[in-house]
Amino acid sequence: VEGIGDVLGQRAAEKGLELTCYVDPQVPTRLRGDPGRLRQMLLNLAGNAVKFTDRGEVTVEAGLVKETAERATIRFEIKDTGIGIPNDRQALIFDRFTQVDGSTTRKYGGTGLGLAIVRRFVEMMGGTIGLESEEGKGSAFHFTTECKVQKKSAFEIPDPGVVNVEGLPVLVVDDSPTSRRLLSEMVTGWGMRPSSASGGDSALEIMQGAKQDGREFELAIIDARMPEMDGFALVEEINRRDDLYQPTVIMLTSAGKVGDGARCRELGISGYLMKPAKKSDLWDAIMIALGNPPNEGKERDLITQHSLRENRRSLRVLVAEDSPVNLKLITRLLEKRGHTVESAGTGRKILRSLEKRPFDLILMDVQMPEMDGLEATAAIREGEKATGEHIPIVAMTAHAMKGDRERCLDAGMDAYVSKPVRAGDLFETIERVVPATVRSGFGMPPEDDGSEVIDWTGAFTHFEGDVELLKEIAEMFLEESPLIMDKIKDALSRGDRNALERAAHTVKGSVGNFAAKPAIQAAQRVEQIGRDGNMGEAEEAYRALEAELERLKPALAALGRDKK
Ligand code: ADP
Repeated sequence: VEGIGDVLGQRAAEKGLELTCYVDPQVPTRLRGDPGRLRQMLLNLAGNAVKFTDRGEVTVEAGLVKETAERATIRFEIKDTGIGIPNDRQALIFDRFTQVDGSTTRKYGGTGLGLAIVRRFVEMMGGTIGLESEEGKGSAFHFTTECKVQKKSAFEIPDPGVVNVEGLPVLVVDDSPTSRRLLSEMVTGWGMRPSSASGGDSALEIMQGAKQDGREFELAIIDARMPEMDGFALVEEINRRDDLYQPTVIMLTSAGKVGDGARCRELGISGYLMKPAKKSDLWDAIMIALGNPPNEGKERDLITQHSLRENRRSLRVLVAEDSPVNLKLITRLLEKRGHTVESAGTGRKILRSLEKRPFDLILMDVQMPEMDGLEATAAIREGEKATGEHIPIVAMTAHAMKGDRERCLDAGMDAYVSKPVRAGDLFETIERVVPATVRSGFGMPPEDDGSEVIDWTGAFTHFEGDVELLKEIAEMFLEESPLIMDKIKDALSRGDRNALERAAHTVKGSVGNFAAKPAIQAAQRVEQIGRDGNMGEAEEAYRALEAELERLKPALAALGRDKK
């Protein structure tokens, strides 16, 4: 239901319509049904509602009708304030090729098939569909579906490091050479040792040979649709053969068929993913399959894209940032939201980390040693051409550099946040580029007038009210600032513009954490002088910065004492 907003939100906004999607908290979420078809039905009805409404609102709602230990009946309602449907046409509207009148087709297009399909699906799902509508006022379509209730939490995604796949022998079976190569490269990057087979017979042969060499396959990734012996037949054969080691099986398919899920469960297959499988989905599926071996008599749920999405509460974020203070801040903010963070200090390290395991998001500083953010992004996007994947990359850019932002987007990044990174800003951006993450519910930071040494509201907002973290960062700053001021002094005495600019930039970033406006401005001035080379003014600007830091220090030091 909430996904509808992602798909239709834009179109509704362009028409000036309010689109609301709401799931009553009573509705159980661990259900078994057909999420793909359900989405199609909702999109069809909500799409119509947006199409036939010129002003007002469209709402999509789900509520619980009845729940027993085994089954839940859910009612969906899609309401609009559009043109409505005349009484005498309401009974016919679910028939194929029916449209209210020929002129609607001319004005709105369409085939008249959508509602007929929705009705058919509703009936297949054991529900009923209905409609209330008044011409000129609007329409409300509603339908029910019956779903099975899942008994328990389906499975856990193990923490990183729990399952060790280093050197794990994996069998990849696929008739497509490209797909074989991509899969083998992927798992090799994760440290596994793949062998590949182009079909069922050669797979069985390889397994037999492996057994003789004492190098049994713990894991098999098998294509479902292959000529001659298909994936299911192969697994059936493996199951039958007592002489073979029984690997954990993940099945990949390019076209799902009704009944495939049941067949997978019957055959003891752990995961069933659509091709091309996203790197992160395949990784998670492998981790879950190897990390939670099925117990005797206890059925583990089949791992699919849908069940992965449901179970994935947090994101794996790769943060590329070379300043320890900023890295600590960002890491804490993300971890507080339940996300897991890995860091890399240079562009090259990012690429290496990405090879080792998949991530859902990269936060990337633009200025980094060795290989900067733009180059690293270009390299990542180039590598993705082979797989068709797209990992969201958010740039972290300095405030002043307007041109930088365009360059970030041109280089293939998806969005940017300004440094110093603010919690509200960060989570809003993450939500935009990685839809369906936990809602942040975070407001905009308040305005400040810039006269105070530290804008406490700004600083607390920035640290999400985490006073402990604020204190820690303040301590780090108090320790580090003399060193960095020495660097500035040194750069001045040598007349080294570049070093001056870099050091001042670092100070600006650090004081930015505390929303210390006057100090930020003083640092910015030194940075600018370094950039422009007006070294005549440098001495004075340095003194001004020093004075601001002196003013700032007692305020930060006081944190340790009274801001408990
Ligand atoms: P299509 O939209 O492709 O024509 P549908 O089966 O989805 O086919 O809809 C059939 C007809 O029902 C539409 O052409 C339109 O006349 C009418 N209709 C459907 N939904 C609405 C709605 N929300 N408001 C007004 N009319 C609607």
